[in-house]
Parts: sequence; structure tokens; C-alpha cells
Amino acid sequence: MPLGFERRFERRVKRTIMEHGLINKDERIAVACSGGKDSAVMLHLLNKLGCKTEAVFIDLGMGSYTENSLKSAEELCAKEGVKLRKISLKKETGKTMPEIIKNSEKSGISPCVACGTLKRYILNKKSRELGADRIAMGHNLDDIAETVVISMITGKIELAMRIGPVTESYDKRMVSRIRPLFFSEDCDVLRYCRIARLPFFSGKCRYSSNALRPFVRKMIIQMEEKCPGAKKNIVSNFIKIKEKWKGSRPKLKSCMQCGEPSLKNLCRACRIINAAGIRS
Ligand SMILES: [Zn+2]
Repeated sequence: MPLGFERRFERRVKRTIMEHGLINKDERIAVACSGGKDSAVMLHLLNKLGCKTEAVFIDLGMGSYTENSLKSAEELCAKEGVKLRKISLKKETGKTMPEIIKNSEKSGISPCVACGTLKRYILNKKSRELGADRIAMGHNLDDIAETVVISMITGKIELAMRIGPVTESYDKRMVSRIRPLFFSEDCDVLRYCRIARLPFFSGKCRYSSNALRPFVRKMIIQMEEKCPGAKKNIVSNFIKIKEKWKGSRPKLKSCMQCGEPSLKNLCRACRIINAAGIRS
């Protein structure tokens, strides 16, 4: 008898974890929990596999969007019996995301870049302080295919270097990041989330409409119509190329402002935070 959808979905995630060495025995996993379907499914499955999980929610200070996201994250963690840690962006940086975005746009930094940078920055710092061995991120196959295309068309090689089921740490201040849903399609994650009756919030961020990502998403959907399997091929072929890559990782300095690991004297998170402090 062929396996049902649920079992097939779970098996794919388990295989991603096993084949790519995402989690070693007894490792502590900080699960980035946004309140959305991807992080809900990821937390549920890591729990089901018996991993030592703890959820981390970043309060971006975005009004009802944040409130609804948090409500879903709280319901999910209560259902799963997982501890939820709420981290406030305002407490960490002195500013909310709308305050940061308002000014970073004037400095030519897109809202998604500012938000993504600060979320990664806080997740790394907090997960390290919590003693977590890994940070689990909910990116699915569709997100990854988009990131591959974006890194190619914008020429951002450092973005491409981070793409993979696991981003190993090459500096003791950086916590390794894992993506258990790396090979799972967006539509399947949603279907599984509904079958498993996991609470999630599907609201859209009001800043994302002008971003490059939604445009690339539409482009990949069109590619898929013309050439079925395009999305999976983008990701799997990129991984094959990356495995042959001989590029070395640059040595990290310490940010002169916050002390976190950084490529430059001032880390990107601090540059974004500082830009938000300049009054127009
Ligand atoms: Zn810094």
C-alpha cells in the first residue's frame, strides 16, 4: 500500500535531518517561531522526533501583525508543550521594526533586508546565550528556490553561501543553522499544517509587497508551468554546485559597537540600527 501524504511528508523531513546531519544526539535546538505555518510544522515534527526544543519568538513591534503572530505561537507552544521565549526587538535595539524601516529605506536598505538581518542577529545572539547547539529555521523549498534565484540575479555571493539544509558554524560565536523543511514544498507544508491542526497565522507583512521576493516567486511559478520540476531542480542543482565550491569562509572580527561577530568593524545589524537613529 502506498504511504499516505502525512507519512510521506514526515519521512521527507526526517530524511533531510538524517542525510544532511542536521541534528546530533542530545543537541539543544532553538526553534525560530514566527507564528506562521512553516515554523509550526517544523516545531511539531522536531518534537515528534524527540528533539530537545525551545521556541524563540521575536517581537518586532508591528502592532496587530505582531499580536496575531504571537497569539498563534503561544497556542502552538502550549499545544506542543514547548517553552516559548519572547525577545523584544525594541528592548534589544531600542527601536521597533517600523521605526527601523522608516529610516533604513532612506539609507537604501530594503525593509526585508533590514528585518532579515536583525532577526538573524538576535536569533544568533539569544540562541548562543541560551546554550543552544542549533537554530532551526522554517524555510521551505519554495523559499530556498527564491533565495537561489535572488542570489544569482543580484550577484550576492555571501547570500548564496548560506543556502543549504545546514549552515555550519565556522566561528564559535555563530550558532549553526538548520532547515528541516529544506526539501518540502510550500503547498505541502500548508496541507500538513492543516491536517495536524496546528495553530498558525497567515497574515502578510505590510512591507513585503515591494520586495524582490514576491516578483521572483511569480517568476518561479511561471517557470514551473513551462517546465515542471523547475523549482526542485533550481535547489538540487545549486546544492550540487555548492558542494564542489572551494571558496573559503572569511575570518570574522568583533563589531566595535556591540561585540557580535562581524565581517566589518561595524556589523550590519548595528549599521541598520544606527541608520534608524538619524533624524531626517
Ligand atoms: Zn554590531
